[in-house]
Amino acid sequence: MTARLQWAEANAALEGARKLLIVTHVSPDGDAIGSMLGLAAALRERDYKVTTAVDGGVPEFLQFLPAAARVEHRLKRGHWDVMISVDASDEERSGICGAFGRARSQKVINLDHHPTNTLFGDVHLVMPEAVSSTEVVYEWLVRLGHPISQPVATALLTGLVTDTMGFRTSNVTAGTLGIVQKLMEAGASLTDVTARALVAKPYTSLELWKRVLPSVKLEQRIISAVVTQADLTTVGLIDVTDGGLVSLLASVQEAVVAVVFKETPEKRVEISLRCKPGYDVGTVAFGLGGGGHKQAAGATIDGPLEAAIARVMPLLQAAVAAPV
Ligand code: 5GP
Ligand code: MN
Repeated sequence: MTARLQWAEANAALEGARKLLIVTHVSPDGDAIGSMLGLAAALRERDYKVTTAVDGGVPEFLQFLPAAARVEHRLKRGHWDVMISVDASDEERSGICGAFGRARSQKVINLDHHPTNTLFGDVHLVMPEAVSSTEVVYEWLVRLGHPISQPVATALLTGLVTDTMGFRTSNVTAGTLGIVQKLMEAGASLTDVTARALVAKPYTSLELWKRVLPSVKLEQRIISAVVTQADLTTVGLIDVTDGGLVSLLASVQEAVVAVVFKETPEKRVEISLRCKPGYDVGTVAFGLGGGGHKQAAGATIDGPLEAAIARVMPLLQAAVAAPV
């Protein structure tokens, strides 16, 4: 898709507003939380009354970001002039908080960078060429003439660092690094953000890898792993991050596509997909009701695990056979 950027409409929506709600996607990553907290901090500096919310709250490794402790885990009351959804490519992805906020807000601004964005909401700030949703937030703040403070810069840099895996993805340009320079000049630490939000993982993630790596297979240039509920529960790892397991698989040079199948407590299956440049797993994820980018995408589909694997593997084989 091409960019759909309604800056004037977004500014007009803010002009008449006082109470704002910012939501993001479930299972939030560095870009989800970085966009939400960076935008929230800047809008608070502009004297708006801002509520932030995401189902389950902020993951521990992102709690160093500004006002992370103020993020609601669920919404029980409130009405807002404008809800801003960040980094969520469809409405369902913003979970229970998103649904609650949508029903109690006058207007919805959809700020995102996924090419699979469904253009929900009233005003669109959707920029598929942006490496992260925090890049879209940065662009909006520049257009508003808002000076970037150190807390805002730190949150925005977090999304840039995590969604590009430390500036290693093929969409990184000289312009991306130009934004990084501005954020560092505003006081954000690239070292600190990279160490905390991208590199560090709890030991429990490695315990999970120890259990799961025997399931790894490489067949027809597709590398896969399976994470069952039994893997997660027996070692008490229910809420543990998988420590970027799919990125580990994707680093294998013989593989073109990497996939992790993860069983949820409801016996559905979360699928994480990665591929080398020149291939497209975003379209596969979109076809499964999910979304993402060409090189990194995901979806949650019906189980059981064996049925999900049998359904997805032929689609991935087709993606390997048809470079883009
Ligand atoms: P990850 O594999 O890191 O969870 O996700 C990779 C990319 O796919 C991210 O851009 C993420 O937003 C997107 N993604 C992952 N799971 C889903 C899903 O269930 N639905 C949608 N729409 N996007 C997903
Ligand atoms: Mn993102």
